[in-house]
This record gives sequence, C-alpha cells and structure tokens, in this order.
Amino acid sequence: MLQLSHADYQALRAHGEETYPHECCGVLLGKAQDGANAVRQIVRAGNTRTDSAHNRYHIAPVELIRIQREARGLGLDIVGFYHSHPDHPAQWSQTDFAEAHWLGCSYVITRVAAGKADITNSFRLTGSSEEDKSFADEPIEIVMTPLAVESSQPA
Ligand SMILES: [Zn+2]
Repeated sequence: MLQLSHADYQALRAHGEETYPHECCGVLLGKAQDGANAVRQIVRAGNTRTDSAHNRYHIAPVELIRIQREARGLGLDIVGFYHSHPDHPAQWSQTDFAEAHWLGCSYVITRVAAGKADITNSFRLTGSSEEDKSFADEPIEIVMTPLAVESSQPA
C-alpha cells in the first residue's frame, strides 16, 4: 500500500504533464509504517538523461544524495520514486526494473497521454537482494489531508 495526500498525488501527475513529451521524475519522502509507504512530501528531480528523455529516466547520484540528506533533516526516509511514461502504459519497463535498486520502495508510474496525466500505478520493489527482487502491484490510497509527522521520542 502506498499512501499519498491528494495534493501530492495531483502534484506528481501535474509534473508529468509539465515535462511532456519528456519524462519527469522525482522522489517520495515519508515513513514505512504497518506495511505501507506513507508519503509526506514529494521532491522533484531533474531528468539527467539527454539521450532519450522520452522513455528513460535517471536521477543523478549527487542529486539523490542531496535529497536523502534533506529527508533525514526532516526526519523522513526515501520511500519511493515516481516518473512518467509519455504515451506509454503505466507499467514498468525492463529498464525501470533493471534500474530499481531500493528494496521496499514504491515505484510510481503515470501514463501521460497526449499531454494529460492518465493512469497512475504503483509497484513495490520486493525481495531481499538484487538477485531475487521483483515488482509487485501495489494499491494507492489517496488521503485528503497530509499525514502528520509523529514527534520522535527523545533519546
Ligand atoms: Zn519507466
């Protein structure tokens, strides 16, 4: 289960419309709780692929490290990634699978058809290692209000 606020859901879909006919990509920050990835914030990332930006995405390692540092500062973790598929189904490709390395994370794909965000699907990367990883269909739960960040216990 992936939990997203209505605002974040709309924002990641709108991002795909803005970058059409190219792919957009970004990172989902939040917490894994009770088997669900609960998103508290989304972060847009630049698409560094210039060779074929319409069907591949990539977040530069240096940018990912910066986003991870920001997340820690907010008391959040990276719980997923999103990107768009301009005029292609909202299903993962072999390239998406090969480039997915974050076990337990949610990979969200939005089909953008003729410039309009269409279907959005999420896939959880399951398994215990790179050798036995697989993508599992994952339901998306839209919550109308942003989830509150629980206060952490003092050490
Ligand atoms: Zn893809």
